[in-house]
Amino acid sequence: MRTVLQTSDGKLLSGGSAGLDIFSNDAFSSASLTTGEAFSVLSLAAVTEEVTLVGTYTKGVLRYENDQLTPYLNRHLGLPSNEVRAILLASDNSVWYATAQGVVQQTPDGKLSHFNEQNGLPAHFSMGLAEDREGRIWIATGIGLAYIQQGIVHVVSFPEYSDAQHAFSFSVVEKGTWITTDRGLAYFDNATQALSVIEKSQGLPVDKLFSIGIDHNSGVWLSSNQGVILTSLSSLKECLTHPSALLEFEHFKEENGLASIQINGGSQPSQFVDVDGNVWLPTAKGLATVTPANLAMLSEFPIPVSIEAVLLDGADQQFDTDKREVDVTPLTTRVAFQYAGLGFAMPSRIEYQAMLVGYDQDWVNRHQFRMTEYTNLAPGRYQFKVRARYIGGPWQEIASPFSIRVLPSIYQTFAFKFSVFLFFCFVIYALYKVRFHHLKKSEMILKQRVDEQTRSLELQTKRFEFQATHDDLTGIANRRAFDRWLVQYFEEAKAKQSPLCLAVIDIDHFKQVNDQYSHLVGDKVITEVARILNREVPHYAKCARWGGEEFTVLLPEYDLVNARVAMDHVRKIVAAHDFSFIAQTLKVTISIGVASADGARDHDRMLTHADQALYTAKENGRNQVTIFE
Ligand code: GH3
Ligand code: MG
Ligand code: MG
Repeated sequence: MRTVLQTSDGKLLSGGSAGLDIFSNDAFSSASLTTGEAFSVLSLAAVTEEVTLVGTYTKGVLRYENDQLTPYLNRHLGLPSNEVRAILLASDNSVWYATAQGVVQQTPDGKLSHFNEQNGLPAHFSMGLAEDREGRIWIATGIGLAYIQQGIVHVVSFPEYSDAQHAFSFSVVEKGTWITTDRGLAYFDNATQALSVIEKSQGLPVDKLFSIGIDHNSGVWLSSNQGVILTSLSSLKECLTHPSALLEFEHFKEENGLASIQINGGSQPSQFVDVDGNVWLPTAKGLATVTPANLAMLSEFPIPVSIEAVLLDGADQQFDTDKREVDVTPLTTRVAFQYAGLGFAMPSRIEYQAMLVGYDQDWVNRHQFRMTEYTNLAPGRYQFKVRARYIGGPWQEIASPFSIRVLPSIYQTFAFKFSVFLFFCFVIYALYKVRFHHLKKSEMILKQRVDEQTRSLELQTKRFEFQATHDDLTGIANRRAFDRWLVQYFEEAKAKQSPLCLAVIDIDHFKQVNDQYSHLVGDKVITEVARILNREVPHYAKCARWGGEEFTVLLPEYDLVNARVAMDHVRKIVAAHDFSFIAQTLKVTISIGVASADGARDHDRMLTHADQALYTAKENGRNQVTIFE
């Protein structure tokens, strides 16, 4: 079928390659030419209540009246071509014909005027005609678009952004004209005289649109060779004013009931909305009709939804249809639900929304998808809900949601996390302990070292002290120590008014010992005399090596009488001592000078006195004790 039209008496006329069919009183009949010739119909137009003109492929225009079909206008009678694709009755009662060789205007008095490339039309070949509210006669040609106003041809170019090359048909509305093109739907605005195009980029599913029809609910039907698209005037207007807006539409194809999605165009009218609001579409496999009101009615049916399968990582899960519960193991990455809305008419018009409670905040549009998948869900409990409706109808939610429990991995459990926490606490504590122990040990070692150092220093100090105050050879106090004692004891004796005596001792003829034996023997003699002195003087007396072979002895609390006795005792012991262990026949004697603090102004003087006494002892023959007088 190519064209369809309802006449004012309610008959439905449809034309195609096999002629003209009339649908009346629920029955089809076909009209044949009185001449009996076969003909192919391209266009229809009701010009009066009784007369319908029929444009054909090869026979020009026929006239249908009172069930009679007769030749009316053709090349012999002035048409430029017998291929008539559109016929239009204009408001001034003239009739326009779009032919393969240009457009013809027939005034009521029968006069024909021709419009073609010579008059400025973009092409001879014409397919569509319409008259808008401002009296423009729109012409769709094989190349480009034009209109005729007051006898003048105006070519209308498509906007720069559009790839459209030619138009097919028109739908005149109050403020403008909709135009179907080979690249979307165009609109000519009467006020601005601007042409805009809604294209695939705005969601239109098909490029090439043949016809446009507006039903009684402002539904806009766009026919194509890919089925019919239903949209709305409001959505189309939104797309015109906002280039970023997306067209809302439904696309009807075979699964919706079309015998063929090839709806024909390029002739006129190739879509018709009848008085009852039914939309008629001529297709490659007969005439299709849709009752928009029924679509709306269908939408009212609530649609129960059934969950058909639950897939974990693609594997179908068994579940209790009453309990509707599934556990999801930790290693599962994908959880999918398959569901279906149980509407048995036009299932492709069923749309869905899904929500995973615990994951989604709101319903999520699933459009016509009958599966929803969730990936990498965190452990926890979720409820899957789904609802369905026919487009535009009320939502119907599933009776009871489907529960899933995503189990935690071992590392996601509280016990594990707590154990890790404890372990870290332990590690930190252990590190602290080890460090503490280490520092403690270092401190101890340091302390030990300091102690050792201190002890060795003390020892060293004592050694130095000893060395500073003792004689290397004999080990008894040296002169430095003695000098200090002398000062100290002298002061004390003076302060306490107590007696103090000093004895100076010299070994007799010591040069001879050195000369006769040896210096080494001399050293041994000095050492032995020192030992005897140290042993024989009273224990609180202070004994020192004064230098060379001379010694001094401080005798506190000793007066001269006692001092003489004490020192004479020492002298005798030395004189009687056996030195043969040092050298055979060796005899040693000592001379001693003694002085008292009493007769001395200071300690130096006491020393001088003792020395003088010693001198006297040497003078008097040695080996004796002499008191300073
Ligand atoms: P005198 O009885 O008059 O004291 O005679 P002397 O030979 O002992 O004379 P004098 O006291 O003047 O001489 C001391 C000698 O002692 C001189 C020196 O060679 C010797 N002498 C001094 N110090 C040491 C020493 O440390 N070791 C040795 N072997 N001899 C020493
Ligand atoms: Mg001497
Ligand atoms: Mg001497």
